[in-house]
Order: sequence, then structure tokens, then C-alpha cells
Amino acid sequence: MSRTIQAPRGTFDVLGEQALARERLEADARRILERAGYSRIETPTFEATELFARGVGESTDVVQKEMYTFADDGDQSYTLRPEGTAPVCRAYLEHGMHKLPQPVKLWYLSSFFRRERPQAGRYRQFWQVGAEAIGSDDPAVDAEIVLLVAELLEAVGTKGVRLRIGSLGSPEARVAYREQLQGYLRAHEAELSAEVVSRIDLNPLRAFDADHPGTRRVMERAPRLLDALAPEDAEHFAEVLAFLDAAGLAHEVDTTLVRGLDYYTRTVFEFTSDALGAQSGVGGGGRYDGLMEQIGGPHTPGMGFAAGVERMLMAAGAQPTAPVPLDLYVAYAGASHRAAAFRLAADARRAGHAARLELGGRSLKGQLKQADRSGARYVAILGDEGTSLKDMETGEQRTVEPDTVMHHIRGDL
Ligand code: AMP
Repeated sequence: MSRTIQAPRGTFDVLGEQALARERLEADARRILERAGYSRIETPTFEATELFARGVGESTDVVQKEMYTFADDGDQSYTLRPEGTAPVCRAYLEHGMHKLPQPVKLWYLSSFFRRERPQAGRYRQFWQVGAEAIGSDDPAVDAEIVLLVAELLEAVGTKGVRLRIGSLGSPEARVAYREQLQGYLRAHEAELSAEVVSRIDLNPLRAFDADHPGTRRVMERAPRLLDALAPEDAEHFAEVLAFLDAAGLAHEVDTTLVRGLDYYTRTVFEFTSDALGAQSGVGGGGRYDGLMEQIGGPHTPGMGFAAGVERMLMAAGAQPTAPVPLDLYVAYAGASHRAAAFRLAADARRAGHAARLELGGRSLKGQLKQADRSGARYVAILGDEGTSLKDMETGEQRTVEPDTVMHHIRGDL
């Protein structure tokens, strides 16, 4: 016997209740984001590898270890999108969206691909809802994006939500701070993990992310970027926090918040859920005022978020889903009535009713059992003695002219 084929490691099928829960989440996201002026964007599943190398950052885990990259068209290198911001920025530039009123507000719900070690809440293909507001550096944009995530998490029913927020400042302040931090890390090299030491030159900020106990002890006393912000960045951050306060959104300022992608400037934030295990991040984002230039465009500020669909739903727990109510179940006694039954079900659906026909080759008795199980409001039975219609709510059954079934049920539904 040949080996059965299974879904690839870190991927999953979406079935039954999960499919319904995702549909609901998508409807919530659309309602919340579209009423705030965000319109939907779809970008290709794969892009030129260079877009992510330049946009996300060469030194990030995503680019260094996690991309699904393949060659096509001879020597052109493509990558399955690991995130949504760089593709949306590429589309903004490609379609000259700077000519539209700014900021341009876009949202997406798409799947993304990262070659991560699969575990609960971490997959190799996963879905994110995200939004980007491009073309304004107003702190109100930052606060709006954060608020929209909070609203989405509330609508989805995600439990135990906490918001941490920080600021990475401008690139110039970051350069100066980076050198200060590198000096501090070198002075404590002996106490740090080998991985952190190897990244002192490339990405010293990531040391704040480390789990290694020695590193954590050192990082507790490390200089903080938030204390080294330029005055205009500190002012921008204070305004973002004031907007969140005005909107009544609880938040913790986190001086060590570092996001995994390189393009962030100024505001960064992350929502976590206490209802999740190790992979507790449900959504996050930030401002990326330098990203457009990195991918070859003019200086254009931007702010966005991405929230994981699987994690939001996991942290929401099982939610009752109501099955789609069935108006009419069409049963028939014997093959000679099949065509008429088929037509009745098709006509009923065309008229806007939810109608189902026996397709499993069951006996009439079996069909009636199915009809009962399906929760149908009406059951039509086509047989040699004519057509009967049973109202499953009242139990009343009557013989009707075959062509009048629709007429009889229409009044009630
Ligand atoms: P990021 O794009 O890394 O900032 O991630 C944003 C959100 O996407 C996270 O908070 C998670 O909810 C979700 N996410 C990121 N990576 C994965 C993954 N490998 N599997 C499932 N969800 C993920």
C-alpha cells in the first residue's frame, strides 16, 4: 500500500467550526476596519526576495532563517511573503498612491509563510489580519491603529489581553543609543549567552528579547532607548499615550519592547493574551517611517499592525456557532421521483431558501431521519401517492400539488 500523504509540517486544514469562526472573525475585521476608513488590499502570495531582504531587514530572524525562497524565471529569486507590510508598501509605491489623499488606509487578511519550528500557536503557514496607514506621521494615526487592534480583539472575544507600548525613536537617536548599548554589552560579554554576543554588532537590541538568565540579569541594568529619545520623538510618544488615555485604553509602557522586524521607528506595540502559552503574542505593530526609502521610494511615514488569526481565536476559546437554518429538506420515494426532487430543491434555492436534497442514496426512512437531524423547517416528500409537505415545527402534514410546495412554504419563511 502506498504511503498516505499528509499536510506539510506546521500547516493545517480549516474545517467545520473553525471555518465558521474564521468567517466571523473576517466579518468583524471588515466591519471595524472599513468603518475607520481602511479599504481591502490583496497582494501576491510571493514577491521578489529583495523586497523582504531590504524591507524587513537582513539581520532579522525572519530574513536570515525563516523565508521560503525559490528561483524562477532563470535567476530571479522569489519568496513566499513572511509578512504584509513590505508588500503593501511596495504596492503603494507601484500604484503611485502618494497622489491620493494621505494617509492611505489599507487592510488585509491573508496567509503568511515562515519556516519556524512548529508548536501550539506557531505555524509555517498562518493568517494575519493587518492594516497600514501610510503617508502621515500624526501620533493620532499611531493611536488609531492601536485602538483598532483592541477593538478587533474585543469583537473576536480574545481573553486576557494586555497591551505593551514603547518607542524606538528616530534612526539617528537609535544609532547613538545602539553604540551606547553595544559598549554596555561588550563590558558584560562574559555574562551573556553566546547568541547575544554574536549579535552585538548586527542587532544588539535583540538582547532584550533573550531568555538566557545571565543575559536577562545584565539587561535589567542596561541603558534604555526610551531614556535616550530625541525631544521630538519623546513628544510624539507622549502624544500617542495621551490619545490612548483619552480613549480609555489601558496600556503598559515597556522600555524594553523590541519587535522582530527591523523596519520600526518611533511607536511599537504588542498585544499579548494570558490565555495563551509560550506564544502569547496575539498582535502587534508600529511605525515604519524609514521603510519606503529602504525599498526604493521617497521618504513616506507609515504605521500598521498585524494580528494572528489562529492566536486570536485560540485565546477566544470555543464560541457557540449557530448552524445555517435549513428551510426545506427534499426527500423522495424511489428513483422515478429523483428528477422532480432535484428540480424542487434547485427552485427553492433560486427563490432564496436554504434547501437540501437527499444525495446519499438513503431509503425513504433514512432520508426522513436525516431530515429530522438537519433541523429543517419543512420536509417535502415526493412519492407515488403525490407530494406531501410536513411542517416540522407543528408536526402538521398535508398533501399538496407538486408545483405548489414553494407557494406553501413562502408565507412562513
Ligand atoms: P509579527 O508579524 O511577527 O509581528 O506577528 C504578528 C502576529 O502574527 C503575532 O502576534 C502572532 O499573533 C502572529 N504570528 C506571527 N508568526 C506566527 C506563526 N508562525 N504562527 C502563527 N501566528 C503567527
